[in-house]
Amino acid sequence: VASGSPGKGSLKNAWLIPYSGSNYKYFSPISYYFMDNGYIHHQAYHTLLSSYKICEKTCPRVHFGIMECANKKGGKMKFHNTHQNGLSVDFMSPLIDGQGKPVRRYARRGLRHYFLEFNSEGVLNINPEVRIDFETMAKHILSLQEAGKKHGLRIKKVILKINLKDNLFATPSGKILKKQNIYFAQALPKRIDDMHDDHYHIDFQITNTDG
Ligand SMILES: [Zn+2]
Repeated sequence: VASGSPGKGSLKNAWLIPYSGSNYKYFSPISYYFMDNGYIHHQAYHTLLSSYKICEKTCPRVHFGIMECANKKGGKMKFHNTHQNGLSVDFMSPLIDGQGKPVRRYARRGLRHYFLEFNSEGVLNINPEVRIDFETMAKHILSLQEAGKKHGLRIKKVILKINLKDNLFATPSGKILKKQNIYFAQALPKRIDDMHDDHYHIDFQITNTDG
């Protein structure tokens, strides 16, 4: 049961996201096992797992990273202003190299992943050979929207660094995404904006409790 809002809320009888599946993995054992931050509302649980099934077909070479979800009982979380009611999830930005091949080595940084920085074109500061795979990011967001429809959720808000949104919407799937009327944060305080490059944050909203 999700109560309140992402910014002030709680969660009862939360579900724990699987640590890994065929094409996804939670990003940090410390976050998952010691901080108990892999919890989520059951409709978001079903939505995430269904979305990764869709991605097995739409982006078969890609391995996805799930970052922080919520505490077992929701409420305040270290390092996050929101994530309080089990309907917010951070997703790791998929990365590719110069040849367009998926890059997975930075997914093993655990909590330090949050500190990776990218330039305004999505190129990784510490390794300019590596950049954000915006086409895959768009496909993943579309898969979440599709899966959410089956499980009674809609995407309420996406937070991605403001100057990366153009790159996302310029890709083939990004153009489809742009037509979907999904709300992307339009302006953010610098501190918040700077954080949302290595990952994108999504708030879901329950539209039907039968999901
Ligand atoms: Zn977040």
